[in-house]
Amino acid sequence: MISMKKGIGASEGIGIGYILKLEEPILNIPNSPVENAHDEFIRFQNIVNIFIEKTLAMANILKMQTGEKEAEILEGHVAIIQDPSIIDGVKEKIEEGLCAEQALSNVCQTFIDIFSATKDPLTMERITDIEDVKTRMLKLLMGIEEVSLAALPQNTILVAKDFTPSMTVGLSKKHVIGILTELGGYTSHSAILARSLGIPAVLNIKDLLQETKNGQEAILDGESGIVFLSPDAATKAQYQQEQQTFLENKKSLQTYKGKPTCTKDGVTVDLLCNIGSLKDAKDALDCDGEGIGLFRTEFLFMERNSLPTEEEQFEAYKEVAKIFGNKPITIRTLDIGGDKEIPYLNLEKEENPFLGYRAIRICLSQTDLFRTQLRSILRASAYGNIQILLPFITSLEELRAAKEIIEETKRELSEKNIPFKKDIPIGVMIETPAATLISHLFAKESDFFSIGTNDLIQYTIAVDRGNTQISNLYTPYHPAVLRAISHIITCAKKEGIPVCMCGEAAADPQLIPLLLSYGLDKFSVGPNSVLNTRKIIAKWDKKNADSLATQVSALTTTDEIKKLLTLH
Ligand code: PEP
Ligand code: MG
Repeated sequence: MISMKKGIGASEGIGIGYILKLEEPILNIPNSPVENAHDEFIRFQNIVNIFIEKTLAMANILKMQTGEKEAEILEGHVAIIQDPSIIDGVKEKIEEGLCAEQALSNVCQTFIDIFSATKDPLTMERITDIEDVKTRMLKLLMGIEEVSLAALPQNTILVAKDFTPSMTVGLSKKHVIGILTELGGYTSHSAILARSLGIPAVLNIKDLLQETKNGQEAILDGESGIVFLSPDAATKAQYQQEQQTFLENKKSLQTYKGKPTCTKDGVTVDLLCNIGSLKDAKDALDCDGEGIGLFRTEFLFMERNSLPTEEEQFEAYKEVAKIFGNKPITIRTLDIGGDKEIPYLNLEKEENPFLGYRAIRICLSQTDLFRTQLRSILRASAYGNIQILLPFITSLEELRAAKEIIEETKRELSEKNIPFKKDIPIGVMIETPAATLISHLFAKESDFFSIGTNDLIQYTIAVDRGNTQISNLYTPYHPAVLRAISHIITCAKKEGIPVCMCGEAAADPQLIPLLLSYGLDKFSVGPNSVLNTRKIIAKWDKKNADSLATQVSALTTTDEIKKLLTLH
């Protein structure tokens, strides 16, 4: 029977297809004793061969998608399962009468215990790899099918608790036409990933896993957040029509490709892109982005087991710089913490991670980490138009301390005659009320601003950007948020520095006229939003944008503001 659910529309588009649930199965390891140890060991060896074949195939896909380094992690897994101490250990246990599953589990556990006892961070990092190898081997031994995201049937709608960067490996728009999750909000990183893949997504749906079945037909509308399970023929026909209209509109946007980004009365603004990887950078160029307004470098640190080296980072930044030639590339220094975790850094669990040890706070205390990243960014600056963006700055002390470390790093490179851009601009993310209220001071000591509305909204209204229970309160239309944005832009203008917005609000069609009226110079949006943002900007002239902004400034509640903006 048809049922309707509502979540947060996180990536636009209509998806009509069949559900595939991504759930981790509970592994009940059999403990039946074996009668023929020889045959059991042969069974184990056969599965090892299959494991190796599948892992190398996955590594190849990764190599093509993201690069050599990520693939090396999987190649390391092949080395682990071929390690004589694992193979001999399993053989011994099987000869003692254990089945292959028990034998492998025991041997892996012994290694995990030894590694954890060392307390050495590098040795402990290997635990994740052994766990991974163990789980995938056990699934193969027990005949539990692993879902390969690279080989899904067409019209698949993925259903998961959450959508993580690792799930994007091999994921193709050709097969996956929708993503549904129980967790996440519009600005959570799962939403940002879905939008960068251009796959319709609805997040934050209550009891989703419990109420859906594999193979069930479903429809999702990634804009309104509406989902139909087992739709009837009439609903399906209606959404097929809407899908058609959506695709035609998308096609019509192509007329904005190659055009300058300017208002109806000829004021030009920059339309840049937010990226998290080399692949995103290529997408940004394909989608006609005019440069990079935000490179979220923390994604280079995620989904791996150790810190990327200076060389690895240098290569990544240099590649992006080379793609964009003279166009600006804004590289944000590491912004971890909050909802972006890096397990191998072994940071303590915190009661309030969004108010805790994150971003610049980590960089200013673990300066080796910061200096390595700065060296690689500065070295890459010899290959393109790079600027540095500092996240989560809340005081002048932090800004000055970060700038001092940048200066020291520059001196170090100069002494070694390593080339870099001497006058590299240094900008500040304005994403907290503290930074907003002293943005007149920051404007005197920085080269540019970037407004991070994703965080600015959560800190201004005191509403966690990922909390499903209060997601209705998370809005850029709150009068306090709009005043904050307008104030930041005014302060930047007074000091004559450029101001960009890299939060998701920059691509919100209803906010664009207000941002133009406030004087925003640069919009940085996901690659898939470039053409639509250009189209909306072209619709407005100064007179109309200012008139709307004046009307909004007279309103006192979010609802009134939202209502007025929806009319335009
Ligand atoms: C922001 O906070 O608006 C931002 C762009 O950064 P992130 O989403 O990575 O926190
Ligand atoms: Mg932020």
